Amino acid sequence: MPERVYVFDTTLRDGEQTPGVSLRREDKILIAEALADLGVDIIEAGFPVVSRGEFETIKDVAKLGIPSKVCVLSRCERKDIDRVLESDAEWIHLFIATSDAHLRDKLKMTRQEVLSRAVEMVDYAKSHGLTVHFSAEDATRSDPDYLMKIYEAVKRAGADSIDIPDTVGFALPHVMRSLVIRAKEVTNLPVAVHCHDDMGLATANTLAGVEGGAEIVHVTINGIGERAGNTSLEEVVVALKFLYGVETNVKLTELDKVSRLVSKLTGMIIPKNKSIVGDNAFTHESGIHVHGVLNNPYTYEPIMPEVVGKRRRIVLGKHSGTHGMERVLREFGYNLSPDQVRRVLDKVKEYADAGIKMTEYRLVNILVEVLGNQIRPLVSLEDLRVTSTMNTHECSVVLNVAGESVAGSARGGSAHMVTISATISALSKVIGNFELVDYTIYTPPYDERNVSEAEVVVSRNGQQYVGRGISNNPSAALSLAVASAISQYLQSVNVKSEVTK
Ligand code: MN
Repeated sequence: MPERVYVFDTTLRDGEQTPGVSLRREDKILIAEALADLGVDIIEAGFPVVSRGEFETIKDVAKLGIPSKVCVLSRCERKDIDRVLESDAEWIHLFIATSDAHLRDKLKMTRQEVLSRAVEMVDYAKSHGLTVHFSAEDATRSDPDYLMKIYEAVKRAGADSIDIPDTVGFALPHVMRSLVIRAKEVTNLPVAVHCHDDMGLATANTLAGVEGGAEIVHVTINGIGERAGNTSLEEVVVALKFLYGVETNVKLTELDKVSRLVSKLTGMIIPKNKSIVGDNAFTHESGIHVHGVLNNPYTYEPIMPEVVGKRRRIVLGKHSGTHGMERVLREFGYNLSPDQVRRVLDKVKEYADAGIKMTEYRLVNILVEVLGNQIRPLVSLEDLRVTSTMNTHECSVVLNVAGESVAGSARGGSAHMVTISATISALSKVIGNFELVDYTIYTPPYDERNVSEAEVVVSRNGQQYVGRGISNNPSAALSLAVASAISQYLQSVNVKSEVTK
């Protein structure tokens, strides 16, 4: 196996070919910069011949001066290569199909014609100073002997590296591995694998390719791509590191951030159960699991969430125990006695046994049902107003901090940020400065009650506090989440002295 694997990210090319996804120029720039910061070695920025806009965007990406190599896709045609030359990209991903079905029904060329064309175009690109990455489209459904003949021929024509694409996601891991082994024997060039997830095997096939000696992996953020998608970057780099001990240049702690950026800009929602970056990837519900994880995360987690820039989350359900319950309630801003926790938990289990799905929204209601006025959060929301015009939002908020009312307001371009700023500004008046580290807000798409769940992380003196809020109004959910985060800080210090400062 190679000691170090190079990451070739094609989010901006194959990823953009996801049905329904079309990125604006400024979005592509943002993603390219994020990929470079992440440590991706080669960024496939697009397919210049597709449109004027695509060409201009590629030019902009090539001009960014990022440390990643910028690569673009091109058919084995002179006019495509000429366009690549005008785009200022350094690498060309030159492809031609090699399977009989593609030759007969798409290219209408013979095997000999395809071979000659490939050689001629590699030579043309090479003689114009491009770094040539050659791809045999539909390689895994091509005659392997013919495929190797092509790879050998393009190597002699000057190709710098070759790629084995499993274009329709039809390969098995052992097939991918043996194709890589053969291609390496024939060419002695760096070999890449490009897999698709049609059978749910993209990551397995990519890793098998690396086992066979492939030094380059074609991947996309969140595994977006045509049909069922491409191999997901985050799965491959984490598996390489922790299952094989193979390094990449990717900064793992940035994975969650880049994953969320790409999800936001493409509109492709990350499934909750997605490996590594999904919301549930480090979320625990069952009592036994939660107890284990709170004592030692290793018991029920393969890696620590912080490694990939995520946070552990404990949620409630019918499998919950007192440890998980206590922790969740604290994140909602409530500090309960063991007896109170027990009473709430009994009610939660009663509902669960009756087949009622436990959500955090329901939990907050149960808390009120069981404890009534016995319990108040340390910081509560008294009033919240958000007014919006075409381009600006204004928020004013009144909070109650340990019996004292404080108000704050803010205005700006994002309704979410304005709410958070107003809440922080109110709280800062009694407890000094806080910094916002991160926030997320989620409104389940199929829930007719339209309940929003917010999570906010704030920091003070280098220490981070997570808070959650839940409401039918997204702004109120955010404001409650800030309040809960700050309650946790207050509980960690002497509240009275802190509040009267
Ligand atoms: Mn593809």
